[in-house]
Formats: sequence, structure tokens, C-alpha cells
Amino acid sequence: MGEDLERLKQRLPLLDYLRQLNWSGRPTAQGSEFVGLCPLHPETRPSFYVNGRKNLFYCHGCGQGGDLIRFVELSLHLSFPQSLAYLQQQRVPAGAADAREQAVAFYQQLLPRHPEALRYLERRGVHDPALIEELRIGYASGGNLRRHLTNQGYSLESLQRDGLVNLQGGDAFYRRVVLPCGQDRREVVNLYGRSIDAAFPHRFLPGPKGGLFAWDSVRHFSTVILVEGLLDLAVLWQAGFCNTTCAFGTHLTPFQFHQLSEQPDRVVYIVFDQDENRAGQRAAHQLARRLAGVSVPARRVQLPAGHDPNSYFVAGAAAADFADCLEGAQPL
Ligand SMILES: [Zn+2]
Repeated sequence: MGEDLERLKQRLPLLDYLRQLNWSGRPTAQGSEFVGLCPLHPETRPSFYVNGRKNLFYCHGCGQGGDLIRFVELSLHLSFPQSLAYLQQQRVPAGAADAREQAVAFYQQLLPRHPEALRYLERRGVHDPALIEELRIGYASGGNLRRHLTNQGYSLESLQRDGLVNLQGGDAFYRRVVLPCGQDRREVVNLYGRSIDAAFPHRFLPGPKGGLFAWDSVRHFSTVILVEGLLDLAVLWQAGFCNTTCAFGTHLTPFQFHQLSEQPDRVVYIVFDQDENRAGQRAAHQLARRLAGVSVPARRVQLPAGHDPNSYFVAGAAAADFADCLEGAQPL
């Protein structure tokens, strides 16, 4: 029983649970602590503190505090055994995550049947079938997901609410290569779609994008490479840099920043786009300073002008070239 409880708390970190309830907290001066409005009583000034490392909360407004189980007891007015039973059920993905999971599996099946999608991936430097399988890359040819999922019992309204189907009743993704986003392999938090026709920008489904990509496997490395996009990550994993994670952009959410800084002796290599307007470099510099502020050593990696990790590999760079860039990274 004791071990079960600990395992449950590991699997469902308090911050993740609160995030699912749309609780938003801002980091305090201490890296692993967040403060926000108390979900347990009405208040206008944030007095609810969550310590991500200790997995504990405390509210200075109502004086309540404790762990995840205690939070469920208080917020749902359940007894301890009831709270435990409730949390054990959380193992099953909620409706939205479930429909997205089904969509990912469906898109994966379609990919090999569409040479135009495979050609697109090839152009973006992604060709290793094992990697395509591991990242669960699929293809939304468009116009067939709605029927597939409604046949499986999902209501049109629920698919529209999840964003998989648009308000006109059509599939949200059309002629797009699709990659699932999640903190681990078990839960699909969002879907990222890259149009194979250059005209359309990439897009996500509505809702949060989740924490850092594949953090469950990347967090164990003593050095971590942070990139902007999933196709940057794909070419780096393919080249053997499996300690690469991605924040889906240059601006980390408080939760992603918390993940990146939870272990002060982990070195973070930031590899943002080397674009002409220097936006990526500015963002990298700011992030490196924030990490230094919580004692996490950060390095800014310079790629040749005009490149992001994906274009660098597509242009012919090898793993050794990228390793040279890491070697020459600047501390701040
Ligand atoms: Zn309170």
C-alpha cells in the first residue's frame, strides 16, 4: 500500500494534476516553487504555494496544505480511500486524450500509404523508419478522421471540443504530417501538424501543448539539448542526440521551465534558430540568464548563419559537425 501510494504520486505529480485543472501559478524566487490563486477557497491575491520538487502545497489563505491525496480530499470532499481510488482511475486517459490517441494511431496507419508525405519527411531530413515509429509520426490526408472516430463511438460534439474536427464538421488537419506532443509515450497532450504544401504554416490543436517533449526519457541525461521544434528534435534524435527535448517554441511555460531547472547540476544546451532578426538568439540569451538565476548551467549553441538544427542537417551536416557546435557553445 505504502509503495503504491508513492508510485501513484510519482506518476501523477501534484503540479501536473493542478495544471490539468487549469491552475496557473507563476514561479517564485525559488526555482521549484509556484504561487497562484488557491483552488480551495475564493481569493483575489495568490496565496497558494506548490513545491514541485517536494510535491507539496500550502495555502497561506486557508492554512491547508499537504500532498496530492490531501488536495483531492479537500477539493472533492472525499475520504482518503475514496481519493486514492479516484486518483488510481486517473490512469485512464480522459476523453480528449483518448480521442487524440486514436487519431495518432489512425494517422500512423495512413503514413506509409502516402508517398507525398514520406517525400516531405525525406525533404526535412527524416528518413529512419525506427525514428518515425518511435516519434509516432503520421499523416492526415484529410477528410477521413471524423468518420473513423465517429464509427468508434466518439460524438461529433466531443471531437469538435477536442479540436480534431472543426466547427464546419471537417477534419482539423488536412494534408499534414502529424506528430503527437506529450510528456511521455502514454498520453497525447496535443498534435502538431506540418503542412506538406509549403503555403500553410504549421499548427497545433487548441489547448495546452504539455511539458517538454519526451521529458520522461530525456530528464535522465546529465546534459540536455533544448530546441524549438519537433523537426529539429527529429533530426537530432536520428543523429544519436537522444538527450534532445523541445519546448514547441522559444518561450517556455512556467511548467516547462520548472522541468528544465528541477536538477541544478544538469547542463542545458540551448539551440534556437540562427535567424536573421536574431529573435531566436535573444530568446536563448534570456533563457540562459533565467537558468543561471536558478543555478542551472546553460550554454548557447551557435549554428552557421541562417540555420536551425533541422536545416543544418538537411544541408548535409553530420553528427560530428553538430558535436563541434556543442563543443564551442558559449556559457551565457
Ligand atoms: Zn486556500
